[in-house]
Amino acid sequence: MKQPIKNKERKFFKRPTATPTAADAAQAAAAAFKPGEKGKKTFALLRGMHDRLPKEERYWRAATRAAEDLAEYFQFGRIDTPLLEEAGLFVRSLGRSTDVVDKEMYIFDDRDGQKICLRPEATASVARAYIGSGLWNQAQPIKLWYQGPMFRHDRPQSGRYRQFHQVGFETFGVKDPAIDAELILVAFDFFKDLGLNVEVRMNSLGTLEERARYKIELINYYRTKRSYLCEDCRQRLTKNPLRLLDCKEPGCQPVKDEAPQLLDWLGDDSKSHFMKTLEYLDELGVPYLLTPSLVRGLDYYAHTVFEFYLAGVAEESAQMALGAGGRYDGLVEELGGRSAPAAGFAIGLERVVMALHKQNEAEQSPLLKPPAAQVFFAQLGDEARRQALLLINQLRGTGLRLAFNFFKNSLKNQLEAANAVKAKYVLILGQKEVQDKTVIVRDMESGVQEIIDQKKIEAVLKRKLEKN
Ligand code: AMP
Repeated sequence: MKQPIKNKERKFFKRPTATPTAADAAQAAAAAFKPGEKGKKTFALLRGMHDRLPKEERYWRAATRAAEDLAEYFQFGRIDTPLLEEAGLFVRSLGRSTDVVDKEMYIFDDRDGQKICLRPEATASVARAYIGSGLWNQAQPIKLWYQGPMFRHDRPQSGRYRQFHQVGFETFGVKDPAIDAELILVAFDFFKDLGLNVEVRMNSLGTLEERARYKIELINYYRTKRSYLCEDCRQRLTKNPLRLLDCKEPGCQPVKDEAPQLLDWLGDDSKSHFMKTLEYLDELGVPYLLTPSLVRGLDYYAHTVFEFYLAGVAEESAQMALGAGGRYDGLVEELGGRSAPAAGFAIGLERVVMALHKQNEAEQSPLLKPPAAQVFFAQLGDEARRQALLLINQLRGTGLRLAFNFFKNSLKNQLEAANAVKAKYVLILGQKEVQDKTVIVRDMESGVQEIIDQKKIEAVLKRKLEKN
């Protein structure tokens, strides 16, 4: 019998009325269709998004593993926050006039009319969780790390996507420069473990008050040079003056080079914090480059800020930061929590993967090669295939690395496939072996074969592999 639809569900099933927006959306969706084979329609990938295919997986895995190992060693606990957040969280923390909030957020009303967005970054989310889940009330510092997708409606280009992935490390509750240095060290080690040679660029933004005084000086200076500035810089002058120092337009460079420097406007405490951080880095042997124009795009930063770039690479794509971070002592309080110093960084994994790909092609780094299969499981005939699948499943968890291909029928083809994955041994299961509950073990190098009991597969292979 048909169940009556409850009121709440009825709302869900209601047809949308044909408002102009619905019609627009339908038209846009139709435009996204592309004719495929024999007139069939296919969907296009959204602009700025990309599919991660298996061939890239080893780079992603290497990067993820490096982050996991470092997190474990330096005792950062994993945190995962939702992809959707209240939009106000980012407006409040990053600042209304930042590019991310002003132009790049994926923002929409959800079914309850609440303003929601896809997170453009995760520091604000982690700070929200620090406040909301009572982490602030536990022994400090709280050290957290995360990995996951972020969303920014940015102008797509190589290395810049609308969905991208970051791995990030954050610390709360400690103001000591040792934490700034530890974070920079962890990021530096991350790149080092992957074989990437990076340059650390550093600056200090001082306190909010120091920055405010500096901003006035900067605006006064830039006003006198207005006629030399690009259109973007003219806008930055009123909207976000610190970003004037970020400008890459050649015409603006002479103005930028002569601009007053923030470091000259820092008070003694800020200077001392920065100096101590640099001393730690000297001690740790982490090379850095003082970069007065480094200001970071987000409002919540204060004191130490840093960015990571591939070292010694002149190409334009290498001029994009691989990662960035700094201190954000005011953020927790800004989000309604009890004041707590904090610092952290985020690394863009797509850019890391791109760099690894390039480097690996050139150097064939062993780190990134997939492990060769130790054993290939070959089968001959339907009956054997059925039993092979059972045996393969039984060998799961033994630590043996198996490969197989059930859609190649001849033994010759399967031995070729075994060669292609560099298997040392091949297990061969034919009709006779199925009946006898045995299997043939073939040594791929010598070609020598022996028949063993199926129950002994694990023990025999492990003994043979150990001898190698
Ligand atoms: P941010 O959160 O802007 O400080 O960025 C930190 C890092 O995330 C950058 O250094 C990049 O590696 C990466 N990143 C930021 N925006 C994008 C993007 N649109 N596409 C790819 N990676 C990005």
